[in-house]
Amino acid sequence: MLENTCQKLWPLLNKEVSLVITTHHKPDGDALGSSLGLYHFFKSKGWQVTVVSPTDYSSNFNWMPGQQEIVNYDVNPEKAKEFVENADILFCLDFNNLSRINDLSALAKNSKSKKVMIDHHEYPEGFDDFRFWNPKASSTAELIYQFVATFDHENWMNLEAAKCLYVGIMTDTGSFRHDSTTAITHLVAKKVHDLGIQTSKIHELVFDRGKLSRTRLVGYVLYHKLAVMEDMPVAITALDKNELKQFNVQTGDTEGFANFGLGIDGVLLSALFVERQDMVKISFRTKSGFKVNLFSQKYFEGGGHQKAAGGRSKMGLEETIEKFKQKIREHKDELF
Ligand code: 5GP
Ligand code: MN
Repeated sequence: MLENTCQKLWPLLNKEVSLVITTHHKPDGDALGSSLGLYHFFKSKGWQVTVVSPTDYSSNFNWMPGQQEIVNYDVNPEKAKEFVENADILFCLDFNNLSRINDLSALAKNSKSKKVMIDHHEYPEGFDDFRFWNPKASSTAELIYQFVATFDHENWMNLEAAKCLYVGIMTDTGSFRHDSTTAITHLVAKKVHDLGIQTSKIHELVFDRGKLSRTRLVGYVLYHKLAVMEDMPVAITALDKNELKQFNVQTGDTEGFANFGLGIDGVLLSALFVERQDMVKISFRTKSGFKVNLFSQKYFEGGGHQKAAGGRSKMGLEETIEKFKQKIREHKDELF
């Protein structure tokens, strides 16, 4: 599965070339952790490297080493465009479809840069020139460790990179509980741990620094918003624009909400609908063998992993939910 094209790639890398790392919009812990992990490796070599994010991200990550150097397209579009346009090599981390980088996608497509995709989602679109891809990997952060190890000796990591990679692995494995967590995941976590990082501190920094309004929102969602379909083993949670305003919802605040429904006995699929400015953002999670990435790709312009995927809809919130109910009923037999 791991298409190792690095042998051809590594000779192209040196301090003369401009290296740019980008990742998907609204980057999560793995997107940021893998990007910054690779950034710290290149920095340690003395190479020119910049991380460009298509959007902002949760303040839970604002302590990560190197994050203050990230060029955010939302804040500084001209600078972000310039880096992507002029990159010699563009590293595309934790996504495999250019639509995931929003406005930067056309620039990336048309730029002369060589594109290196490092990713663990299924069904790559095929925009890349070099590929380090394994859909069985727990996280892109895990792949970054292996990717660099193919070039350097095994013990390449410094403390900054270790912290970042740990965030990626920890968040994408649901703190080492998802079945994507393998012996390799633990091995990489060991390498990271050996450098002396305080893993419980990292957990606290990422998960235990929410605002009171966010905790209140969790209560509100669980009590008032989470519903189970009467005729299907499916939980639905929806938040509209007014609710987002009422609870002062910021980027990242609804992270984890799609999992709430799965905690209910008998529920096999949970769907979360959040009414953003210009679209409804959807998250799917399942604990059965039903492939939510294919379902999302077919009906909601989305994709992701078999058990955790996302998508979007340009229809209104209510219409989107109605469409979802109709489509999931059509797939009822596959759910069990
Ligand atoms: P989430 O529901 O947390 O946004 O995303 C779950 C998984 O699906 C993540 O791995 C994420 O990268 C991926 N994902 C989320 N939205 C999309 C989408 O619109 N398209 C694709 N291809 N993947 C998505
Ligand atoms: Mn990931």
